[in-house]
Order: sequence, then C-alpha cells, then structure tokens
Amino acid sequence: MKELQIGGLVSFTTIDYPGKLAAVLFLKGCPLNCEYCSNSHLIAVEQGEYDPEKVFNWIAARKGKLEGIVFSGGEALMQADATIDYMKRVRELGFSIGLHTNGFYPDLLKKVVDIVDWVGLDFKATKEHYKDLTKIDIAYDRMIESLKFWVSTGHGLEVRTTCDPRFVSKEDLLEIAKIASDLGVKNFAVQKYTPYHEEEARQTTPAQREQFFNDDELKQKIESLFESVVWRNN
Ligand code: SF4
Repeated sequence: MKELQIGGLVSFTTIDYPGKLAAVLFLKGCPLNCEYCSNSHLIAVEQGEYDPEKVFNWIAARKGKLEGIVFSGGEALMQADATIDYMKRVRELGFSIGLHTNGFYPDLLKKVVDIVDWVGLDFKATKEHYKDLTKIDIAYDRMIESLKFWVSTGHGLEVRTTCDPRFVSKEDLLEIAKIASDLGVKNFAVQKYTPYHEEEARQTTPAQREQFFNDDELKQKIESLFESVVWRNN
C-alpha cells in the first residue's frame, strides 16, 4: 500500500464540514494550477510533512470529540488508492468522511461513493473562463461529470464558487448558480476571494472582491435557486 502524503492538518473546525465538528487533512498533489491558489505548496505530490500513521492514531484518539474527518488538498483524490485506503480506515473508526474536491477525478469519485458521506465541490468559473483560471483544458468537463454523478448518489453536497473578479463576474456567478441548480444541486456557497498573490498588472480592489456580497438583487436571484446558500464573506 502506498503511504498517504499529508501536507497539512487543521485539528478542529466547525465550518469545513457543515453540521459536524471535524478535522481537516490537506493532502499533497493537485492536477490544477489555479491562479489564486493559496495552497501552492501542496500542488506537487511529494513527501508529506506528516507521518500518516501518527496522524491516524491522533484521529483514533479524537473519537467522541470529533464527528467527521475532511480530506482536502491540493486535490485529495489525486493520491487515488492511498487516499481511498486511508479514508476507509478512518471510516471504520466511526467517523463521517467529508471530501473537498475540484472534481477532476470523476472515476475516483465513483470509487468512494460508499466511503464519503459529504462532498464540497468547487465550481470555479463558467466554462469560458475555466481554463484561464485553472490552466487545464479539461477541468470544466471533468468537474461537471463529477457534479452530475454526486448529485445522482443523493449524498451530501455543497457546490461552492470562489469569486475571484479576474475570472468570475456577477453575471457569471448567476450563470454558475443556474447551471448547478438545473443539475439538481440544493446547497450552494459563494466564497469571497482573498488575494494571496496577484501580478501587478491584474490586481483586484476590495470593491471588486466585495461586489458579489452587496448586491441584494443578485443575492435574491441566487437564493431562489437553492434550498440553502451560504455567503462566506470573510
Ligand atoms: S484546485 Fe485548489 S489546490 Fe488545486 S490549484 Fe486550484 S486552488 Fe490550488
């Protein structure tokens, strides 16, 4: 069995797995190269900073204190069997399993359908801007395939869009919301973009980043499409 490469750990969170007290594992490796990535140190699959067995023992000791473990990244499914085997072991301890994913691996998502209870899926931009943002041609189509599949399972799902004004306009956000809603998504999240590193020529202003959150008409339209919408404005 390949060893899981873990690049980060948040020991307690109430926001990364809706409705559950959880910890988050940040796994190494991501097939995308998003312009706004705040985890660029996780993009390469390389030796992780954490001993996976020590982390496993730590998780086991959290029984009764935590309800769920979230696998995030990077792209948690990029380590394929190493991730899936580890998820299974954590689930056998009695934890719910959450997965944050960019949807790039629909075939692997199908393999974890009996292991993962809830997915947070990134819908990053409209098809027109997906490649510009992620640098990968097929990322949009893969994400849509993953989205359709996970909706069909009936398992927990939140689709989220991080509103980087360089790649997403208010019109785009509404279009994304409509596509997600038409595909059967019930829970949507709008996330504020934080500028970690921006080229001088493409810098964004606070007003540009805030525009998605102070437009009542846009809010109303988006909220009418879903059972729940979370506005993560911080
Ligand atoms: S999908 Fe996430 S981890 Fe991967 S490059 Fe994009 S922002 Fe970074």
